[in-house]
Amino acid sequence: MSTDLHHQADQHRLTMLRESLTDQFASQTARLTELTADTGDPAEAHTRGALIAATRQSLDHLAGALRRIAEGSYGLCERCEVSIPSERLEVRPQARFCVPCQQKAHGGPPTAGPPGGAGSGPHPPAPGLGGGDRWSVRILSS
Ligand SMILES: [Zn+2]
Repeated sequence: MSTDLHHQADQHRLTMLRESLTDQFASQTARLTELTADTGDPAEAHTRGALIAATRQSLDHLAGALRRIAEGSYGLCERCEVSIPSERLEVRPQARFCVPCQQKAHGGPPTAGPPGGAGSGPHPPAPGLGGGDRWSVRILSS
């Protein structure tokens, strides 16, 4: 059990994180209650609908993160089970996937690295373009 100390530091970090997530969860819940309760203005209905959807999604993520903390699986990618880098978790505490899996999940192109190297491979021999023929034509026509 040489990892006890590290584990304790981790536990402390998770406790802090859980408190922060619980706070966010509470404020998002209050926000959702506010959004769903106030239905007076039909002109705002569309905007409010989008806000409600976003808040619900946020609550969903927060609840998921809290559940994973409780289960001890927090910080692991749900798809490939590698540890998600702590820098990423600091930016997105509710992240469920590592960066490559997140990109795959969204179906977007990877942001790092240009597609294909330019001129790094061996070139196939160029097919003859009839240069000799042109010479003969020139000779014949002159
Ligand atoms: Zn992954």
